Amino acid sequence: MTTSTPDAARLYELLPGAYAWVQPDGTWWINNTGVVAAGDGVLVIDTCATAARTERFLRAARAATGDVPIRLAVNTHQHGDHTYGNSLLPATTVLIGHERMREGLRVDPVIDGCPPFWQPVPDWGPVTRRLPDVTTSAGLTVHVGDRRVELMHPGGPAHTTGDLIAWLPEQRLLYSGDLVFAGLTPLVFMGSVRGALAAVDWLAGLGPAVLVPGHGPVLTGADIERVLDEHRRYYSLVLAVAEEGLAGNLSPLEAAGRADLGEFAGWADAERLVLNLHRAYADHAGGDVDLISAFTDATAWLGRPMHTAV
Ligand SMILES: [Zn+2]
Repeated sequence: MTTSTPDAARLYELLPGAYAWVQPDGTWWINNTGVVAAGDGVLVIDTCATAARTERFLRAARAATGDVPIRLAVNTHQHGDHTYGNSLLPATTVLIGHERMREGLRVDPVIDGCPPFWQPVPDWGPVTRRLPDVTTSAGLTVHVGDRRVELMHPGGPAHTTGDLIAWLPEQRLLYSGDLVFAGLTPLVFMGSVRGALAAVDWLAGLGPAVLVPGHGPVLTGADIERVLDEHRRYYSLVLAVAEEGLAGNLSPLEAAGRADLGEFAGWADAERLVLNLHRAYADHAGGDVDLISAFTDATAWLGRPMHTAV
C-alpha cells in the first residue's frame, strides 16, 4: 500500500552524487526532484509545492551532500509542484529556468491561493514567488564539479511551453520533469499533445539508462521504453478522442464522456483526459486553453473536486 504523506518521501542515490527525491504517490501536486553533487557544488532540480515538503527535501539533500552549498538550481517547468518551494532555497543559489517558465510563474495566480478544484484545498505554507535569475530559450550546460549537466528544451511546447530536462550524458541519467509521468496520467493542457508525443521520441533518442520522472518511481532498464511507449499510446488516444469529438461537434467534456480509457482507466488522475482534450481542441482551433473552463469540466467529468494529498 502506498501512502502519500510527506514522510513517505525518500532520497535515492542513483549514481555517486546523483539523487532522486521521490514523493509517493506522485498524484496532483506531489512531485519528484533531483540533486547532483560533485566537488564544491550542488545542483538542485526542482523544488516542491509546499514549504513543508520542500524543507523535508532540502534537509535530506543536505544530509546526503555534507553541507556542500547549493550553488545552482533549475526548474524543469513553471508548475507549482515544481516551483512554489523555490523561496526555501538559499538566497545565494542561482536559479535557472526557461524564459517562458519564468514568465509563467511570474503571472501564476495559484501560488497566492489555490482554487477549490482540488480537495482538500492545498495550503502551500510560507512560500513566496521566487523566479529564475538566469533564463534560457534553447538550453544551456552547467558544470557541477566534474559533472556535466545539459539543461535542454524539447524545441517546442510539450508538457508546458517552457520545459527543460536535466541530462547527464556521461552517466546517461535523465531528469525528465513532467515530460514523463511513470504510471500516472500524463498532463499536457498547458503544452501540446503532439509536442509531448514528439518529446517522447526525443527523450528515447537520448538513450537514458536511468530516468527520474516528474511523478512516479525512478525508471531503469526495460521499464524506460515501456513507460515511454505508454505515453505514446496515451497521447495517441487523446488525439483520436479529440478527432472524433471535433468531427461530431462534441465539447471536450462530451468527447471525454464517450471515451474509453482502456488500459489507462486505472491510472491515477484520469480526469486529466478532459484537460488534455481541451488542449487538443485549442491546438486544433489555434487558440489557447481557458484554464477555468478546463478545470470546471474536469471536475464535472469526475463528479467531484480532484483529489490531492499534498
Ligand atoms: Zn507539471
